[in-house]
Amino acid sequence: MLQKITRIATIVFLVVFVASCTHKKIAKMPTLTVKNHSFSNYDSVKLTHINLHLKVDFDKRILSGKAVLDIENTSACQYLILDTRQLNIEDVMLDDSVSAAWSLGEETPIVGRALVIALTKNTRKVAVYYSTRPDAEAIMWLNPEQTLGKKHPFMFTQSQAILARTWVPCMDVPAVRFTYSADIECDSKYLPLMSATNNFKRNTTGRYHFDMPQPIPSYLMALAVGNIEFQALSNNTGVFAEPEMLKKAANEFSELPVMVAAASKLYGEYAWGRYDILVLPPSFPFGGMENPRLTFATPTVIAGDKSLVSLVAHELAHSWSGNLVTNRTWEDFWLNEGFTVYFESRIMEAVYGKSYADMLMALSVGELNHTLETLMKEGPGDTKLKLNLKNRNPDDGVSDIAYVKGAMFLYYLESLYGRKVFDDFLNAYFSHFKWQTVTTEEFIAYFNSHMSKWPKIKPDLNAWIYDVGLPSTCPKIVSQELSRVEKMAELINTEKSLKALDTARFTTQHWLHLFRHLEADSIKNLMADMDKTYNLSASTNSEIQCDWYLLCISNQYTAADPYLEKYLMEVGRRKFLEPLYERLVETPEGKEKANKIFNKAYKGYHAVSRNTIKEILAKSSVK
Ligand SMILES: [Zn+2]
Repeated sequence: MLQKITRIATIVFLVVFVASCTHKKIAKMPTLTVKNHSFSNYDSVKLTHINLHLKVDFDKRILSGKAVLDIENTSACQYLILDTRQLNIEDVMLDDSVSAAWSLGEETPIVGRALVIALTKNTRKVAVYYSTRPDAEAIMWLNPEQTLGKKHPFMFTQSQAILARTWVPCMDVPAVRFTYSADIECDSKYLPLMSATNNFKRNTTGRYHFDMPQPIPSYLMALAVGNIEFQALSNNTGVFAEPEMLKKAANEFSELPVMVAAASKLYGEYAWGRYDILVLPPSFPFGGMENPRLTFATPTVIAGDKSLVSLVAHELAHSWSGNLVTNRTWEDFWLNEGFTVYFESRIMEAVYGKSYADMLMALSVGELNHTLETLMKEGPGDTKLKLNLKNRNPDDGVSDIAYVKGAMFLYYLESLYGRKVFDDFLNAYFSHFKWQTVTTEEFIAYFNSHMSKWPKIKPDLNAWIYDVGLPSTCPKIVSQELSRVEKMAELINTEKSLKALDTARFTTQHWLHLFRHLEADSIKNLMADMDKTYNLSASTNSEIQCDWYLLCISNQYTAADPYLEKYLMEVGRRKFLEPLYERLVETPEGKEKANKIFNKAYKGYHAVSRNTIKEILAKSSVK
């Protein structure tokens, strides 16, 4: 019996193999060139819509089906060239009936492989039959143990920056916007969600339809499937999460409708219909992703006291900066992130007040100065807002420069023109470029023309955008709250006593600032007292935990060890794992602990985090 099955399987395999080898190939391949991290010929053929038909297979860890692309070939181009990477392309059909000639280009390390499809003059639809590979970089397949519920598997995609091509053959470049629809089939135990119109409840068929009627760039296509439930927060906002997390998440994000209203009041109507948040399992290695209509978020922002919701303000702000007005290339990334950090800060100010928003921004500037120090030594070119990413992975451009230097540039402009004038400019900018993409140079031209009414003001745009480092014109963000904390820390350090510590009105950010200003030598004997008084080791606030455990490691305060271990077992966000493992491997005892914990915890980490920690453990020279 077993043998017979094997033989049938072999025959089926051979038939499929022969079929896939006998498709008509392109007789003479066109010259393939990479422009803005894409092989696609988006200058010649217009992609207007993608319709996905995909089946989700948790056992094999693959998606399989077809992507039907609507195109406008007004220049009568002979070929359609798409981006793919790690995809198994099975066949290509034109206009539902005609078998197409197609070939794959050479595999390249960063941008993948071009899929070249011969077109006729009248081709309107191109259907690509394909499946993904289990190691597709955009897709994170989680074992049940990597989820909160521990019973069901979970999957989600992360397409930014150029990973959409590992699950959808497309023109994977932010310059191209298209609408999409999808028919997704999965086990009826699970609910699939997309960056599109979503269903709020599971059905018995496991088949779901999605529409994204507004044109988006490929990096905003997203899919998640798992044991997910929904709770509404208002008519047009709500939270999706594993059932174990749903109530907590809904409480934490209860002010979401207020944030949406505040954002709309600042820079124009919210353009995407609904705004929902999907809280992912703890192994999600990132903070959040602004997938339109449905932000993907880490559960580590659920602190219980709403103190980390600025992440939601950030992802919400992207509904304007990034999703509505999009950077044309990844070298213009600051147009997405700098605008978003500025906008995030304005939302926080509108909802929680100026002193809180200033405190958050001042903390970010502290981190920016740290990044600048490192980058000025290792690669000063990357401290420019306009990046040079030729032959590099766009992920190399992801740093505090695009985010915080970009935001400070906008604060600088605001300080020159005044808030009213600058807000008018931002409103005009979002309205002028909505549903479009924009380059740094187009931004400069638009800015200069819009602001020509104020000829006496001469902002130094070039210094900010094209020079390294931080210009001397950078405004100072003064946070009285943080200054208060610094004074306290100084007294604690000199007096070696906690007498000066006054935690009334302390938020998460006060604690973080305090921890970062305490000196290990001075507080060694105060650790137990602090822990006992403020219950820090047993905190459930991921940010406070991370910074407190760093202090514990530096001060060999071993009473916190069981809590630290539990934290490293449960949290998968790389931002927290990385500094803790780095601090641990500084001493032989710490390194032993780190190895022991990692051996137990690594199965619960996503590959992104797992690889980083493996590197930290391997490169540590401590014996
Ligand atoms: Zn962002």
